[in-house]
Amino acid sequence: MKYHRVLLKLSGEFLAADDGRGYSAEATQSLAAEIARAHATGVEMGIVVGAGNLWRGTRQGMGMDRATADYIGMLATVMNALALQDALEREGLETRVQTALTITEVAEPYIRRRALRHLEKGRVVIFGGGTGNPFFSTDTAAALRGLEIGADAVLMAKNKVDGVYDDDPRKNPGARKFDELSYLDLLAKGLQVMDATAVSLCMEGKLPIVVFDIFQPGALVGIIQGERIGTIIHE
Ligand code: UDP
Repeated sequence: MKYHRVLLKLSGEFLAADDGRGYSAEATQSLAAEIARAHATGVEMGIVVGAGNLWRGTRQGMGMDRATADYIGMLATVMNALALQDALEREGLETRVQTALTITEVAEPYIRRRALRHLEKGRVVIFGGGTGNPFFSTDTAAALRGLEIGADAVLMAKNKVDGVYDDDPRKNPGARKFDELSYLDLLAKGLQVMDATAVSLCMEGKLPIVVFDIFQPGALVGIIQGERIGTIIHE
């Protein structure tokens, strides 16, 4: 195995149908099945989930205070964490949700050492609530938790895009895919992979980022086993 411990970043939209809103039982379960196949390799896995299916669109046009909107977004990630936990448990995985904002009635608070212990025991740890701070993103939460748990890589899951391209491959059929990139290239080219704060954190911590299509069957397992899939971003 190439990676022994990974941090998987999922967007909220992956839990939804094609319109990207709310939940789809089918989408959520097929995502969970793909994660279960990867987990069966023996990899230790932490997951950070976003909230785009519940909140991003809703925020626009409301004129809401930014911090308030961000707290709603963070709470929405906790809802997604619970939905994902339910789906993963149906696949037979042992899981724990830990949240950056404490809601102890529904999940454990984030305690790094406890998260490490869960991982060692083979439990999938889902980190809800982002970083717990407004003005950040779940990409940054993924980089942060990835560093904290000593992950070998952050696996940035995408939907129907199998890596980093020099242009949007869905709009430009001539777009060229990168097999690898440096952190500085990624920042300099302004490629929309993850936000700059998250990339900078990974760069500082020398934490590789792998961008791949999670709905391509076997891609996640392949990456963990060392196949050249997607785009790897490193030094
Ligand atoms: N958010 C935040 N701080 C964090 C993580 C998330 O304020 O540390 C808020 C932010 O408003 C963000 C929303 O939660 O827009 C949902 O996360 P994101 O947009 O990253 O979800 P994704 O696009 O991955 O589904």
